[in-house]
Amino acid sequence: MQPEPVDVVVIGAGQAGLSAAYHLQRRGFVPLPRAEADDGTFLVVDANPAPGGAWQHRWSSLRMATVNGIHELPGFAVPPADPRAASRDVLPAYFAEYEDRFALDVLRPVRVRAVRRADDDPAGRLIVDSDRGSWAVRYVINATGTWTRPFWPRYPGQDRFRGRQLHVADYVDAGEFRGQRVVIVGAGVSAVQLLDEISHVADTFWVTRREPEWVEEEFDIPARVAAIAGVEDRVRRGLPPGSVISVTGMHWTPWARAAQARGVLVRHPMFASIEEHGVRMPDGSFEPADVILWATGFRPALDHLAPLRLRTPEGGIRVENGRSIDEPRLFLIGYGPSQSTVGANRAGRDAVRAIASERIPQAA
Ligand SMILES: Cc1cc2nc3c(=O)[nH]c(=O)nc-3n(C[C@H](O)[C@H](O)[C@H](O)COP(=O)(O)OP(=O)(O)OC[C@H]3O[C@@H](n4cnc5c(N)ncnc54)[C@H](O)[C@@H]3O)c2cc1C
Repeated sequence: MQPEPVDVVVIGAGQAGLSAAYHLQRRGFVPLPRAEADDGTFLVVDANPAPGGAWQHRWSSLRMATVNGIHELPGFAVPPADPRAASRDVLPAYFAEYEDRFALDVLRPVRVRAVRRADDDPAGRLIVDSDRGSWAVRYVINATGTWTRPFWPRYPGQDRFRGRQLHVADYVDAGEFRGQRVVIVGAGVSAVQLLDEISHVADTFWVTRREPEWVEEEFDIPARVAAIAGVEDRVRRGLPPGSVISVTGMHWTPWARAAQARGVLVRHPMFASIEEHGVRMPDGSFEPADVILWATGFRPALDHLAPLRLRTPEGGIRVENGRSIDEPRLFLIGYGPSQSTVGANRAGRDAVRAIASERIPQAA
């Protein structure tokens, strides 16, 4: 079957993708399902069966009061929510209402398998292949986030462990670890938040590769701007964006302080190997474990872009102002410096602004 022509395909309907869709519509682009011609059209596809992006999968104890701060989607405020409400309930409902209100016609569930070039013409079309058909597009706005790519480091003996190993992406609730011994791996915000939570019901043992550098100062606006500039520089050079902590340091959060006050914020060096019933420490001592919880972060979900061959030897994609340097028909938003709700919003707007400046849709 011939790929269906459309001007812009947005892959992913999380914060970044919905921001792009909103701005496309504001600039006169029409959702493909309602368009009469392919000129000036866009289509948003998403692999999830329901609205909400990654928020629908976050653990239930991540409440509106404990998220890092959610920036609303453009043009429609988050309705007032009980701070004790789970973000996985409040935000998907908000996203669903948003999609309806602006009639964004998100097509789901649609998993994009590959983005490739139709031919050698750099001004030609890209082909987006999915499990629900293919589209021939002028621009791809990639907004696929990181949730589907949990990062599990490899350690000797990992396969021999008789207890349970899980990544934070599969974490549901501390109650399932009651009375057990849980080794928590990682130095990020999630590791410390879950350490605090799990230590109420279980014996915890926290390990990180490097000693966390606790930053006393507020993470104020100049600090944020400097951190974002650091990630911007990395992605421009084609380096992997890196973890948030690598550029910001560890800031004291209420849960870090709570864990410290209860004497459980005790960091140990990373174990050397894993054995059947626990972990072997670098000094040769043994720590028993029923559970190993990998709070080791996520990587950008970009496997479907492999046919474009944009990966640098360092493992990143060269991106400037949210646009691939080596394939200008491709925008990457919610990637690197725009990997936050506020960053995703702006990146969506800027990608659409760049597209609109090159292509004025005929439909108004
Ligand atoms: C635990 C956790 C907590 C966080 N808390 C905060 C916070 O409090 N504040 C903040 O600003 N940021 C937070 N972040 C960062 C957060 O990820 C972003 O702010 C934002 O929600 C990400 O939006 P996104 O649109 O980039 O990605 P997502 O919300 O992940 O949306 C991506 C969408 O793309 C779809 N998709 C992926 N691959 C494909 C494919 N091949 N084909 C089709 N669709 C695909 C997915 O189904 C998904 O719906 C947090 C991140 C994590 C991991």
